[in-house]
Amino acid sequence: MAETVSPAAPLRAKWFNGRSSRAREVLIVLEPGPKGPALRLHVLDLAHAASRRFEHDEVEWPPQWSADRAPERLTIALHEHGSIEIDQPQVWQQALAAAGARPGLAQRMQTRWPVLLGVLAFAILGLLAFYRYGTPWAAAQLSRHVPLEWELGISQEALGQIEQRWLKPSQLAPERQAALRASFDDLLRQLDPKLKRYPAYRPRYELLFRRGLGPNAFALPGGTLVMTDELVESAAKAGLPDDALLGVLAHEIGHVEHRHGTRLIVEQGVLNVGLGLALGDVSSVVSLASTVLTGLAYRRQHETESDCFALALMTRAQKPTAPMAELLLGLSQEHGAPAPQAHGSTMADWLSTHPATPQRAEQLKAGALCR
Ligand SMILES: [Zn+2]
Repeated sequence: MAETVSPAAPLRAKWFNGRSSRAREVLIVLEPGPKGPALRLHVLDLAHAASRRFEHDEVEWPPQWSADRAPERLTIALHEHGSIEIDQPQVWQQALAAAGARPGLAQRMQTRWPVLLGVLAFAILGLLAFYRYGTPWAAAQLSRHVPLEWELGISQEALGQIEQRWLKPSQLAPERQAALRASFDDLLRQLDPKLKRYPAYRPRYELLFRRGLGPNAFALPGGTLVMTDELVESAAKAGLPDDALLGVLAHEIGHVEHRHGTRLIVEQGVLNVGLGLALGDVSSVVSLASTVLTGLAYRRQHETESDCFALALMTRAQKPTAPMAELLLGLSQEHGAPAPQAHGSTMADWLSTHPATPQRAEQLKAGALCR
């Protein structure tokens, strides 16, 4: 809806034309113009007084002010034509509005602070919603396009850091390692495309045995799985068959197939290193990715997804899932407190809680986890 704009009443002003130090009495009329208000200046103290119109862009318009902070005097510069001084800023402002000037953004925000608060609340809610829902969604979509080679590179870097700080070579007998690897390969052969979250994704699976970090297993993007000697020993001590260990490995395969690690890295990337990527600083992206990887705490939803994946894969391989639940339950009771080798680091915290929490083990046992 267009407002009706009527020419305002003239207002008195003093004009310093820049050549003479003497001020001249003038009348100012603000008129609507094509680009905004124009300023017409009538000289009063000459008989042959002329008027001159300054178009909108020939005038240096003073900044607008809010109602309670009006200046006492206004100075308006007319470039090579000097400047004018006005003693009635309120009248000037009214005339300006009448000539079609829109109030400045700051002024509108000051006079309509509920609008500002509303906009602010909306923006914050939008950001939170993006962070909570948008980023994981975008990461899941983007992860489709992350090349396997990239994942393997990042994982190699992260594994190097983990090994340096927490892991030692395995002391399991080579034939025991070979037997577990053979069962692991059998399990991989049962990996039906219907079980895969990303059907075209072909990770390069590799099972590594290491000592350290207590009874544990973890997976890195691209298909590198690590199982600790302590986990193998715990299963033996509890008298559980290798199906217990296979179940844990199936869970780790679930993390790989769902690309949980990659999705977390991509999420962090979306949030934090968009700029780094944009600037082409690849080295900082790589180091950040491996930091995320070593410090990542898998989300509860990721654990549930991987548990369900493990149940489905084990069922397909015609293996019992009860031993795995028994193992996790036993570990969660035994290792309720954080592992002693956790040096307050996120990695050790994550690994100490990763395979076994009592709730997860109970849920697994009850089979009440998956739809
Ligand atoms: Zn897990």
